[in-house]
Amino acid sequence: MTKADTKAVIPAQAGIHPSSPVVAYIALGANLGNAAQTVLDAIQAINDLPQTQVTKKSSLYKTAAMESLPGALKSPDYINAVVEIICHQTAYLLLEQLQKIEQKAGRNRPYLNAPRTLDLDILLYGDAQIQTETLTVPHPRMWQRAFVLVPLEEIAPQLVSAERLEGVKGQGIQRVGIASPDAVS
Ligand code: ADP
Ligand code: MG
Repeated sequence: MTKADTKAVIPAQAGIHPSSPVVAYIALGANLGNAAQTVLDAIQAINDLPQTQVTKKSSLYKTAAMESLPGALKSPDYINAVVEIICHQTAYLLLEQLQKIEQKAGRNRPYLNAPRTLDLDILLYGDAQIQTETLTVPHPRMWQRAFVLVPLEEIAPQLVSAERLEGVKGQGIQRVGIASPDAVS
């Protein structure tokens, strides 16, 4: 059995209510309408979730959208951020609640990489390794994305090595909002 196997969380285990609080990281992204306001509202909505508190939030960052459909018009830039939370929720309940926040913001998924009002991804949930049909944690593409690693490094530098940051150096990303060290009220 490999180390990854021993740490793998099967669905039933991942659904057990954690007895002690779990520190998790959530990536936020929006590129339709007033994207910055959508991200700020979503941070507040996450903080308002039951048994969940936002403990750190990154600055807002602007990045160019990934190509969606070949030949399609270029999508507007994204506003991205990452927050740290402390929660007593299972990873599945957290995902469900984040999806409700996405839906309230008017999210639909017409095609891959389509512009979206709001995208909320669980990057890390404690040190859990989850691989199921509905949930993969750590998020499978987080280490390839500057719009995740740069804001994550801002609030949790211990999680992002210099090598990881170097790996996404070529991707354009611009800080547009100043970080607030305070938790959301
Ligand atoms: P993406 O975020 O990759 O652009 P979506 O937001 O449309 O794509 O997510 C599609 C599905 O990804 C969701 O229905 C959810 O079940 C699944 N998913 C798997 N792992 C995660 C994760 N770590 N965070 C959020 N969603 C996840
Ligand atoms: Mg998503």
